[in-house]
Amino acid sequence: MLPISFIESMQGVKGFQKEAFLAVHVHNIPVTSIRFNPFKKKLLKQLSLADQLDEKVPWTSDAWYLKERPSFTFDPFLHGGAYYVQEASSMFVEQILQQAIPQPAQEIVLDISAAPGGKTTLLSGYFKNGLVVANEVIKSRAAILTENVIKWGADNIIVTNNDPVHFQRLPAFFDVVLLDAPCSGSGLFRKDAGAIAGWSLENVHTCSLRQQRIIRDTMGVLKHGGLFIYSTCSYSTAEDEAILDWMVQEYAFEPLRIQLQPNWGIVEVRTTQQEAWGYRFFPDQVKGEGFFVAVFRKKSAGIQPVFRLENNLTQPAGKALALLSEHIQLPENYRVFMQENGFRAIQNHYWQPLQQLAQQLYIKKAGIELGGLKGKDFVPSHELALSLLPLTQMNNVEVDLETALHYLRKQVPAIQGAKGWCTISYCGLRLGWIKVLPNRINNYYPAEWRILKD
Ligand code: SAM
Repeated sequence: MLPISFIESMQGVKGFQKEAFLAVHVHNIPVTSIRFNPFKKKLLKQLSLADQLDEKVPWTSDAWYLKERPSFTFDPFLHGGAYYVQEASSMFVEQILQQAIPQPAQEIVLDISAAPGGKTTLLSGYFKNGLVVANEVIKSRAAILTENVIKWGADNIIVTNNDPVHFQRLPAFFDVVLLDAPCSGSGLFRKDAGAIAGWSLENVHTCSLRQQRIIRDTMGVLKHGGLFIYSTCSYSTAEDEAILDWMVQEYAFEPLRIQLQPNWGIVEVRTTQQEAWGYRFFPDQVKGEGFFVAVFRKKSAGIQPVFRLENNLTQPAGKALALLSEHIQLPENYRVFMQENGFRAIQNHYWQPLQQLAQQLYIKKAGIELGGLKGKDFVPSHELALSLLPLTQMNNVEVDLETALHYLRKQVPAIQGAKGWCTISYCGLRLGWIKVLPNRINNYYPAEWRILKD
């Protein structure tokens, strides 16, 4: 049962059709969709979930509805980052980007509320030569975000764990800001009974104040002419249209209009005060969950920075670098740096923005962690296996589905013929490391990520 105060609050909202809306929440037909990882798709010897793909999500380039929800836990392609399970409506962010930035170059993009990372992976795939800063304020959620980013494997994502206010230290730094705001969550009513139980008008009000605070804290980071994308999974006008009006009024953002196809079922709204454009997704009209999104161009510039953190990203010693190169040969456009005791690699053109970010923010992950030296031995990192870096000096063993699942459960796989450090791959997709010793095999799959279900 949906809250009565919610239904009452929706009267008069453009596109809200009470009977159809209620019906779709009673006859709950779950919709599952995935978006392929453009960086890894070309590595695959076999398309993941090929027999499960139904129709394409119409507003994106490579995302599909599935015929039914599979058991993702037992699909090695998921663990190897071949695709991301993402709700279809929220993939509309890609359509906005296609229309607003049809030819992405080297944009620097901020995803301010990024966990668990659905839109971060979308941004990484769209801005292939750009840099995505994926921030999450809540520490435990920043860990989930990092896990998903590691599996995605691309090195154009930097994960930070900061309060949005800390970004004020980076005025006019970003070309694009996405605020996928924490919200009252009514858009998830169909999927999540907890969202129904936790909904209240008071919470809508609290969320709208929080959304304004985050915008106030971060609007200065956007360059003049930069793009601000605002989204929620709430149907409430206080978190949607009212926020758009406030943004135009307070900060003179210029609202942009997105072209829609009539068969998408998306409702275009125009706010009464400031005539800003917004896009509403109702699950009785689109194949997806509840969602709201709007996009603006920034007209004014930012303010100047004052703050400096000690930058903890250092250059490795020449001797250590020489030892490292005995184990791993990086492409020429990469540079190696140290964070704590680990070697990391990042493409040269990301180095300068990374330096600036590291002076202002807590960097949780940047570039690809390669591993560390233990005496003369190189201990490779899990992140390295899941990355896109070529590992020509390392052994690899291609395994079947049963062995892959055995490995992902962190059991000892039965593998012949390999020696020393060795990656395991399934259908061409690397899953992690084993170490083959004379009398045993050690499985280095991260314990906290292993499959626990039988
Ligand atoms: N963008 C994500 C995705 O596509 O996977 C989903 C983001 S979710 C709608 C909103 C996020 O905002 C949550 O991860 C939540 O932890 C975070 N959040 C909560 N309070 C916040 C705050 N005060 N400032 C910024 N983010 C906050």
